[in-house]
This record gives sequence, C-alpha cells and structure tokens, in this order.
Amino acid sequence: MGNCVGNSSRRRSLDHSSNSSRARNQNSLPQNTIVVISEQQNSAQPRANRAQLQNSPEANQVQIDSTIYKATAKLENYPENPSIYFLDFLFSTRRNCRITIYYFAKDIFDPIQNTYYFYVDPEKYPPPESHYFEPGDRQHFSHLSPIEIGRFSDDELDFKDKKTFPVIIEMTPESETMPQILTSYFKICKSEDQYSLTCLRQKISINGVIHELKDLYGYKSEGLECSICLTEKKEMVVLPCNHACLCAACAEHLKADAKKLCPICRGPIRQILKLSEVSA
Ligand SMILES: [Zn+2]
Ligand SMILES: [Zn+2]
Repeated sequence: MGNCVGNSSRRRSLDHSSNSSRARNQNSLPQNTIVVISEQQNSAQPRANRAQLQNSPEANQVQIDSTIYKATAKLENYPENPSIYFLDFLFSTRRNCRITIYYFAKDIFDPIQNTYYFYVDPEKYPPPESHYFEPGDRQHFSHLSPIEIGRFSDDELDFKDKKTFPVIIEMTPESETMPQILTSYFKICKSEDQYSLTCLRQKISINGVIHELKDLYGYKSEGLECSICLTEKKEMVVLPCNHACLCAACAEHLKADAKKLCPICRGPIRQILKLSEVSA
C-alpha cells in the first residue's frame, strides 16, 4: 500500500554485517520527539494518500521502535588517513535493526510504483552500506561507512541543490506487525577544517504511511505540569510551534477560545495533538 521510504528494489546496497553492543535498557528512547502530520509532503504524492495521512490514527499513538540521537551525529576523522572520515552517532532500538547509510542520495518519487526510493550516482558517490544491530539503548555507531570528504565541493556538502542529501541515515527495525522506517537527512557544514552534521528533516514511515518527525519543546525541561492549570499532567502538544505544555482539559478550553494562542510563545495554534506514547 501507499508510500514507503526507500523501496529497496532500486537501491544499491552493500551489506556489511557489524557487531553491536548488548541489549541494555530497551525502554528509554529519546523523549523529545513526536510524530506529527507533515506539512511538507511531496506534491507528487497522490491525493488519496494525503487524506489517509490526515486521518491516520498513528499520528499521535505510535510507539517508535528505533531512533537516532540526531544531535550526537558527527564525522570523525580517521587518524591514519586525514582525508577519511567516519560517521558517528548514538541510537536506540527496541528490535533488531538495519541501519543503511547513503551519501549524496536523491529522494525520488516513482509515480508508477507509488513509492519513494533513494538514488545514488554510482560514478560519483560511495555506494550505500547497511549495518546490523541488536536491540539496545544508546548504542554507538562508529568507525563505519567511511567517506573521503575532500572529494566533494562545499556546495555538495551544504545541500545547495536542495535535492542531493549529503547524508541519509535510514533505520529499519525488524517488525512483522508494524513495519517502520526512520529516515534522517543531514547536511555537512564545514568551518575551518572541521565538519559537522546538521539534521534537515526526519521522516518515519509506519505501515507504509509517511509522517514528519518534529522536535517537541518543553516537555521535560519545563516540569511535567500543564502550564495553564499548573496541576494536571502535560499531555498535549501545540502545533505548529511544538510546545508540549497542556493537559487535556486546558487544551479543550483553549480550542474553544477565540484567540487560540499558545500559552508559551503566544504563537497561533493550528492544531493540538495528544503526545505520542513514545514521549509519555
Ligand atoms: Zn491544564
Ligand atoms: Zn508555542
């Protein structure tokens, strides 16, 4: 059915098995994400699927099986050869998980198959590599997927064409009941001789339906109580500012309010969603 991120049929993929750390605490995924309905769905997406997205119950109920701590993503220099860099980041997964790294891939929509896939020009760029991990919390992806950064122009690294994503990290946890694919897109920023990664967007495909993943603000940092009544537990998030600040009752009052302004930033409220289980 519908769309899915990365149809494997047209990918070039080299499978290198890799070791992984033992399962530790499997329940503590990052608390700062929620699945929300995308505002930037590909315009090529058929109308039927857009409607399905908007009505999708998964939008605020799903449990995410694998996640990456995107702020930890960086490129590590290989000491023996200064032109080679390795991708380095922390991630958690509740299930066995395949992680595929694409360098300089385009996100292509195929209207005939009605699917998305990644295209990497094999003449210019390193082929995608997959690595396999067991369940575990805060695992370290390191010394894998080397890249010779100096071969690429600043414009390529900086995502100047808005089409060729410098780094795509695709996580596919093993699941028969609810297949998920988490895709994180990064650009590479260069300052002096240092390279850093900046996350451009994250998408999650759940049962073939794509959602945009966005950061959630103020959920843990500002205390757990609703910022209006200061007594009930926060369980609602305001869109588009993503402030997690309301209990269910105050959210209902706010929806009825003519002004409809976020209590934290005073920005306009377009929608109020219940926090997903992963954030709760
Ligand atoms: Zn309240
Ligand atoms: Zn706000």
